Amino acid sequence: MTPNDDFAMLIDGKPVSAVDRLAVTNPATERVIAHFPDASSQDLDAAVASARAAFPGWAATPIAARRAALEAMGDRMLADIDTLKQLLTSEQGKPLAEAEGEIGAAAYWLKATAAIELPGGVIEETPEHLVEIQAVPLGVVAAIVPWNFPVLLAMFKLAPALLAGNTLVLKPSPVTPLTLLRFGAQVADLLPPGVLTIVTGGDRLGPWLTAHPGIDKVSFTGSTDTGRQVMRSAAATLKRITLELGGNDPAIVLPDVDLEAVVPRLFWAAFGNAGQVCIAVKRLYVHAAIYDRLRDALVAYARTVRIGDGAAEGTQIGPLASAAQRDRVTSLIADCRAHGYTLASSEDPAPGPGYFVPVTIVDDPPDDSRIVREEQFGPILPLLRFSAVDEVVARANAGDYALGASVWSADARQARDIATRLASGIVWINEVQHLSPTVPFGGRRQSGIGMENGIKGLKAYCDLRTIVTRKGSAQAQKLGETEE
Ligand code: NAD
Repeated sequence: MTPNDDFAMLIDGKPVSAVDRLAVTNPATERVIAHFPDASSQDLDAAVASARAAFPGWAATPIAARRAALEAMGDRMLADIDTLKQLLTSEQGKPLAEAEGEIGAAAYWLKATAAIELPGGVIEETPEHLVEIQAVPLGVVAAIVPWNFPVLLAMFKLAPALLAGNTLVLKPSPVTPLTLLRFGAQVADLLPPGVLTIVTGGDRLGPWLTAHPGIDKVSFTGSTDTGRQVMRSAAATLKRITLELGGNDPAIVLPDVDLEAVVPRLFWAAFGNAGQVCIAVKRLYVHAAIYDRLRDALVAYARTVRIGDGAAEGTQIGPLASAAQRDRVTSLIADCRAHGYTLASSEDPAPGPGYFVPVTIVDDPPDDSRIVREEQFGPILPLLRFSAVDEVVARANAGDYALGASVWSADARQARDIATRLASGIVWINEVQHLSPTVPFGGRRQSGIGMENGIKGLKAYCDLRTIVTRKGSAQAQKLGETEE
């Protein structure tokens, strides 16, 4: 199959190519499936200039029209879901059903965010003063997104940024630019030119964007290391930032759970999207009373799961999204082997091309091992034995990350007690990875700064203007002017 070279950036409402192009590889076949533009710094300047030019008009557009545009974008996305899901699977690797789920959720996010009210109104009234606040947009927002949920995570930013009246320059990951470029082409006519810009490129483009003086805010989702670079770069012009970064989420399983019911749920919480989920369960703490039984059931379940090309019927886990990610995960497996930890794996994937890694469960490695301390972002999970609640809370809270966590128990009160002692930004009880357009989500510690979704997420795309009126003073001022 010849690679598709039709993908263009969206700049000033038009498809724009670039002198240089980069390749996208299907991670299941290792074949190049398409090329996409590698923006030059001049291309980026043109893109930011068009976004700046569009800002005053979009900010002045009535909010009802901005809401309607988001809803129409959601409808277009749904109308194109068959093509978008195939494209997403071909560039990212996830099974088609998961790709469809991601596109469906992204369209839902556009529509549901459109319904959120901007903050504002009278906040204080005294006999002398009336105090109001107004939400005002920031200007041009740069949205930088990773490759694990490229479409959904982009909509977490696009929807509130545009609703609040900002214009947006979106930069997909070079691993997964295609689905977003296709989406951009599909919705271009729904917005004035420059309101939505999509620029693509390699490693140089992100740093250019975060340093660009024409950008007012950077909303970034990606690794903690890159987040630090983004923050440093944004400091030069005091850009606002939202950082959604890495996680090393603990799940704590108490001895009273229904083992049979909980095992498949814990399995998918860790291994869905081949483990490439910021809020995947990455450390599974299991009470000693049920540890052996749960481990054996999890390993048995792992052996039933079908790993393969996400485009093939019946595939449940696809390849890792890139060779770099595959290498990172295999290096963690090698480290476990070198230290003599006990591993249990699913069947090895069939030999051939593709960045496949078998599902691997590590039996009670020490707390200072790499697989416990580091974010694996792949299909390898450490199972850790605990005996007491205080002990497990301390172990779960160790480390610099604090994104998500979960507690599993039949005793709701005890589970909630534990939840309130966990450091993470979000804690689920007998649940995991449940997010919603109206529920704020974000990491604490080095898992992030700021939050996305809900009113809190929307406010991150606004400044507040406070207006204080002294009652009766307008009349006094007018009189003063007449007297002069
Ligand atoms: P990454 O940090 O390598 O890249 C993320 C994005 O930043 C990409 O678009 C990349 O091109 C760009 N980028 C790279 N270097 C840059 C720089 N110096 N300046 C500006 N932009 C730059 O992350 P990734 O490997 O794509 O994604 C995996 C990571 O993302 C994991 O750590 C995961 O936990 C995290 N993540 C977090 C969330 C969340 O909501 N907290 C969600 C998904 C993924």
